[in-house]
Amino acid sequence: MKALYADAHLHSNPARGLGATEIARRFRARGGWFVALVGLSPWHYNIDVRGDPLAAYVKSIEVHAAECRRAAEQGLRVSCFAGFHPADVDHLIDAGMQPHRVLELGEKVLDHIAGLCRKGVLQGIGEVGRQHFKTNPERVAIAQEILVSAMERAKDLGCPIHMHLENAGEATVVLIERLASRVGIERRLLLFHHSKPNVAAAAVKRGFYATLPGKEQLLRYYFGNRMPSENVMVESDYIDDPRRPCVSSCPWEVVDRLEKLHGEGVIDDETLYRVNVDNVVKFYGVEPP
Ligand SMILES: [Zn+2]
Ligand SMILES: [Zn+2]
Repeated sequence: MKALYADAHLHSNPARGLGATEIARRFRARGGWFVALVGLSPWHYNIDVRGDPLAAYVKSIEVHAAECRRAAEQGLRVSCFAGFHPADVDHLIDAGMQPHRVLELGEKVLDHIAGLCRKGVLQGIGEVGRQHFKTNPERVAIAQEILVSAMERAKDLGCPIHMHLENAGEATVVLIERLASRVGIERRLLLFHHSKPNVAAAAVKRGFYATLPGKEQLLRYYFGNRMPSENVMVESDYIDDPRRPCVSSCPWEVVDRLEKLHGEGVIDDETLYRVNVDNVVKFYGVEPP
């Protein structure tokens, strides 16, 4: 089978789930050629953040980088991302960390990530962004500041960012557009991950990138309505944790759905190729399959 499919945002968890080797094997067998593998927070790998939280993040990024190497060993092209998730802000404050300590920690984690991007161990920063759930204002402020810091670093490094954001339609996109121009980062480096159709369409029209969750109904709506396919990719957001089975799809299930929609004529050949290859090559700077 010719490799055609890309998963533009997913996670692997060697401590609790299948891990990258098995995920890559299954995805390859289903026609996958590329994954953007995004790191998880330390506690997902059973790494304790009490004690020395920075060391816990450094360790978890090591675990993740090893996972990226394993996926690549299975013959996939891999872009490896690590970040400081907006939900981490909530998790750490809930665990008793002072808000200003969380901000400091986030900055230090980003310093470490920037160093690894410079060395070529990582190819980008993510997830960073804003909470998509109800939370306290100081927590949103901290997450936002970490996002701005990530943009400043990514601008200097020329590396891409996966942004996890609220879904407030066009407002979400306009807020990022304003932020990006203040920071001076190119829009082509910024990806709206887990986008609803209206967010994705508004983002890509302005020159940003977006990933659509690989749910059948959403894909059917987006492509059935001929919404823009420039700069759009598909993600499973696979979480690789049997304790959280309903959160996401498996990468190979997303391939099943894309093939079904392609078979029904909802997605034409050109769009399927653009979403899985052309846009991936442009955003991630990888060689096509
Ligand atoms: Zn996310
Ligand atoms: Zn994710």
